[in-house]
Formats: sequence, structure tokens, C-alpha cells
Amino acid sequence: MRQRIADKIFYGIISLLVLILGGLGSIIIYQRIQDQQKILDREVQATSTYLESALPGALLNLNAKKMRKIIEEVAARTLQVVEIFDEKGERIYVYERTDSQLSYDLKVDRNLYLEGKLVGKINIYFSLEDALHSLRFRELLRLVILISAAGLVLGLGLYRLVQRLVLKPIGEAVSFSEALTLGNYHHRIQVHAKDEMGLLQESLNQMADSLREAVDKLETSRLEALESSRLKSEFLANMSHEIRTPLHAILGFTDLLLEEESFPERRQSLETVRTSAQILLDNINDILDYSKLEAAKMTVLEESFSIDDLVSEIAPLVEMRLQGKSVSFQTEVVPVLKGSPIRGDRARIRQVLLNLLINAAKFTEKGQISLRVYPNDKGLETVFEIEDTGIGIPSDHHEKIFEPFIQVDSSMTRKFGGTGLGLAIARRIVEMMGGRLWLTSEPGRGSTFYFTTRSSA
Ligand code: ADP
Repeated sequence: MRQRIADKIFYGIISLLVLILGGLGSIIIYQRIQDQQKILDREVQATSTYLESALPGALLNLNAKKMRKIIEEVAARTLQVVEIFDEKGERIYVYERTDSQLSYDLKVDRNLYLEGKLVGKINIYFSLEDALHSLRFRELLRLVILISAAGLVLGLGLYRLVQRLVLKPIGEAVSFSEALTLGNYHHRIQVHAKDEMGLLQESLNQMADSLREAVDKLETSRLEALESSRLKSEFLANMSHEIRTPLHAILGFTDLLLEEESFPERRQSLETVRTSAQILLDNINDILDYSKLEAAKMTVLEESFSIDDLVSEIAPLVEMRLQGKSVSFQTEVVPVLKGSPIRGDRARIRQVLLNLLINAAKFTEKGQISLRVYPNDKGLETVFEIEDTGIGIPSDHHEKIFEPFIQVDSSMTRKFGGTGLGLAIARRIVEMMGGRLWLTSEPGRGSTFYFTTRSSA
């Protein structure tokens, strides 16, 4: 870019100079040729007049040698031939140049008188074109040399001037903004002059100042935000931990009491305590997981495990949630996956699977829920597919429900509990293991959630 502007200016200056110098040169040449023509005219007149006055004596004596001498005295380049005739018109003598090809373009006739008496006549032949021609050539050559030399010197001078006044500052401004782009906000341009270029340089420097201030402020607020987010996550993690301990105690003691209690009404009360405590614990666990993810403290393991075993382990937990509903639960692990172990973090995959299956159980009143596990086309991933015939999810919520605390219908929360964190956590966990989590759903017909994990190498 920089180079192209310089080239354009350089060629522009040179062409302008050639044009100006060429025009000036042509005028000068024209003038010189005009002058030369006048000089030649005068030369012709002078030669003719001289011959007219000098020749009659020699003609009377018929002295050829003398005639020749007289003519040679004035024989300039332009004079070609002189013919001398006596008073009867008979040609007495002819002088011809020997050093050039004879050709002429001007003929001058003069009568010769001696003491007032006509004694003869002369025809003088001149060639002016040759002289003018060589003059034109010489002048043209001179002009070309002059233009080239002056053009080169002036052009280079002008170019250097433009380079110093315009191109160099532009170049500096370009490297300056490149430095800004790379984040070097401390770079400054030296302001050389008080012209527009100087103003531009000053405002670039001011821009860098403002940018640096803005970046500094941003960096401070970023650090503050990071710190406050870290403190929030730390607080959440601590709180969750503090709440979980007494909750486990409540669950444990409720179980103990349930074992001993046979009175139906009190049993029902204890069951309610137990379910409420369990929901609370689930929520607390979600919050704890989420704050761990936020604080980037969650890690995933790389282990091999049998998917068949995992599915058999969680099936009863899902069935338990379906008690009292006419919803069946089916599982299917394709035969290829039954034998060989799959890779991933077993506990995390179990967590995601349970989350999706419990959601399916929550939002399905009749029909069926099915879990299918199969390898994808290329066999590089294992796909988990959880399908239900529940209430479904409107399409404008298909992505939103993966955001934390987002629920399609908050009245459901009052009925079933839930924090709106489950799917956000599930997606983050799946992505941490290098997989994807997505869904297809139609309101009123049901939903299908899919997630993938990388297959064994
Ligand atoms: P929650 O703790 O509220 O279940 P999730 O993140 O697991 O939080 O789910 C977010 C919301 O997505 C739910 O509140 C519900 O509106 C919707 N949702 C999730 N799974 C299903 C499903 N299988 N059928 C219908 N709606 C679902």
C-alpha cells in the first residue's frame, strides 16, 4: 500500500515534468528555428549583394580564377551553385560546391552592373533545408537530453520533498496504527510540523492516549469482575457444602425413623420430609456443580467402563420416578457396544444421563421413555439418545433451556422442583469431555435429547 502511493506520486511527478519541460522545450526550439531562418535569410541576402558587387570586374576580364576566388570567399554552407552569364546571356562560368550533394531550394537572380552598365547576370542557388534540418535535429537532441536530465534531477528532488513531507509521515502513521492493532498503546509519533500532517499526528497520539486509558479501565474492571465472580463461586461452594452436611443428617435420620415407624399418617409425613430433603439436596448439588464449572474447578476423568453396566445401574432410579404414572421405560444398547468398554468419565456420564432421564420422567405423563446407546456413522463417537412422549419444548426454547436458571414454564418448578441449572451443567460437562448435547422436540409430542462422547481409540 505504502509502496503504491510512493510509485504513483513518483510517476505523476515525472510525467508532469516531462510534459512541462517538453512544452517549454518545443517553444524554445520553435523560436530558435525561426531565428536561424532569419539568419539564413540575411546570409543569402548578404552573399547575393556581395557577389553582385564583386563579380562584375572579374566578369569583364573573363577572369575565371578571380571569379572563383570571389565566390569561395563567401561560399557558406548554404551556397550550392553560382552561374555567371555575360550581357548576351551566355554562360561564362559555373561554380559548384564539391563537398555536398547538389540540391537547392532557393534561387536568387541578380543583374550585374559596372558603372551603371549591364554587364551580365548571376543565378545563385542556395540549399537552406539542409542547414535547417540539421539544426532541427541538433535542437531536438539537446531538448531530449535537457528534459531527461532536468526531469531526473527535478523529479528526484520533488520526490524526496514529497517523501519527507507526506510519505514518511504517512508511513509513520501506518506503523503507528499497526502497533495500536497489536496492542502497543505506548507507542507515540513524533510531531514534526504544525501543518495538517502535524495535526493528524497529534490526533493519532491523542487517540492512543484515550485507547490506553480505556484499555486500562477495561482491564481493571475485568480483574474486578473476575475477582467478584471467583468470590461468588467460592461463597456458593462453601455454602452448598455447609448445607449439604445437615441435609445428609436429615435424610439419614428420616430413613432411620421410617424404618421404625409403622403408623401410616406419620409415615406419610416422614416420606414428605424425605422427598423434600432429597429435592433440596439435588438442588444444592446442582448449584455446587455449577459453581465448580464457573470457577473452572471441575475436572473430567478419562476412563474405560462398560456402558451396559451403567445403564442397568440407572434404570431402577428412573423407574422409581415413574411410579404411579402410565409411562414405560425402555433401554437399548446396540450389540457392538455391549462387549467393548467405552471411554469417558463414568460418574459424569451417569450424572448427565440421570439428569436427562429424570427430566423426561418429570415432563411425561403417559407413553414411554427410551434410552438408546449406539455409535455414530464413523464410529468415532458414542451417541446417547433419550426420547420421551411428554409435553415437549417450543422451538424458541431449544437453545435457551441450556442457559442457567432458564425454564420453559416456572409453574412446573413449583410442582417438581428444579433450579434450571441441570441442562446448563449437563451441556458443559459433555463439552468438557469433547462431545455435544442437543435436542429435537415438538410441543405436545415429546422431546429427544442427544449427547455424544468420544469413543475408545
Ligand atoms: P430443571 O432443574 O428446571 O429441570 P433443566 O436445566 O434440567 O432445569 O431444564 C430446564 C427446563 O427445560 C425445564 O425447566 C423444562 O422447562 C425444560 N425441559 C427439560 N427437559 C425437558 C423434557 N424432557 N421435556 C420437556 N421440557 C423439558
